Amino acid sequence: MNKNIAVIKGDGIGPEIVTEAIKVLDKVCAKFGHSFKYTDVLMGGCAIDATGVPLPQETIDICLASDSVLLGAVGGQKWDTLPGNLRPEAGLLGIRGALKLFANIRPAKLLAPLASACPLKKEITDSGLDLVIVRELIGGAYFGEKKTYTDDKGVKHASDLMTYADYEVERICRVAFDMARKRRGKVHSVDKANVLDSSRLWREISHKVAAKYPDVEFSDILVDNCAMQLVRNPGQFDVLVTENLFGDILSDEASMITGSLGMIPSASLGETSLGLYEPIHGSAPDIAGQNKANPIATILSAAMMLKYSFDMSAESDAIENAVTAVLNEGYRTADIMSDAAGLKCVSCTEMGDLIASRI
Ligand code: NAD
Repeated sequence: MNKNIAVIKGDGIGPEIVTEAIKVLDKVCAKFGHSFKYTDVLMGGCAIDATGVPLPQETIDICLASDSVLLGAVGGQKWDTLPGNLRPEAGLLGIRGALKLFANIRPAKLLAPLASACPLKKEITDSGLDLVIVRELIGGAYFGEKKTYTDDKGVKHASDLMTYADYEVERICRVAFDMARKRRGKVHSVDKANVLDSSRLWREISHKVAAKYPDVEFSDILVDNCAMQLVRNPGQFDVLVTENLFGDILSDEASMITGSLGMIPSASLGETSLGLYEPIHGSAPDIAGQNKANPIATILSAAMMLKYSFDMSAESDAIENAVTAVLNEGYRTADIMSDAAGLKCVSCTEMGDLIASRI
């Protein structure tokens, strides 16, 4: 199969980790007889330096014309003092909106070889930790009206409007219920319906969608309780569906209990097969350029691309199995290294080489 992939390497460790993911994708092509064409496009800090804006129109056009988009990470101190709409992160929000990617899928699974990297007690994770967060991505407070002003008494105010329409809640809930049907058949809808109107609408619509999936076990959970339950008993969760801001926070929490930010991939999907695939971590400026970054989250994001955008399940499984094999053999990047016996610390490029060689 021939596929066109737009590649946003971005800033910091972005170029290093994306290079390793492409190495692995190339090995998949060689093994399975596919051909992937990669087109590099600019977004984030590097786009600001080259063009003055974080998301050039050319990037949007090339992404829209591609079969899928692979992204490293954007951002860094150099651009931190720019106004919000000109910061690298504005590129991230912009590309999600421009490609109409309303669903962010973040699996958090504790892999057996990394059990010792989990900060939770063993008795908590003994019942397993394998959940998916389905986060609404282009609504809520991140996209609502923003205002900063000083009133006539000289007091400064700022607000971010958290707003949702019924159809936005409905379509993201459908993604969650469809996913639960392919997993363990359980959905928790996360909201703050005891306080927020937007959450009360969320609850009303999620219940309507749940009624269409009688085979899926469904419950509501308040976001504060959910944050607590994720460290108390994460094994109770299968699919969590929630709005943008809550999902941003909970998914970082969920990823951390699996051991390392460097392990967790994500997929952002819309109504078509065009998706954007990226690790959930940032550009890690503290280790950029040192060949120390863990490329696994980006490599697993490429695996998600094969499954969700290209319908290549066997190829996707081959990548996941290669990652597990390399971890089982004791290879670790510095972020997931421990003093357990038999572990070997490897660089970013060595980890990419090892995974590619096990495909
Ligand atoms: P970060 O995720 O970049 O780093 C947090 C910590 O985790 C750092 O110590 C870093 O070294 C480590 N880390 C992250 N990814 C790693 C990997 N693959 N391998 C090994 N260690 C890894 O978060 P931050 O430091 O808060 O943010 C840095 C920059 O990234 C900021 O400019 C922020 O805005 C941006 N950011 C971008 C994205 C994105 O592109 N999607 C997401 C989050 C943050």
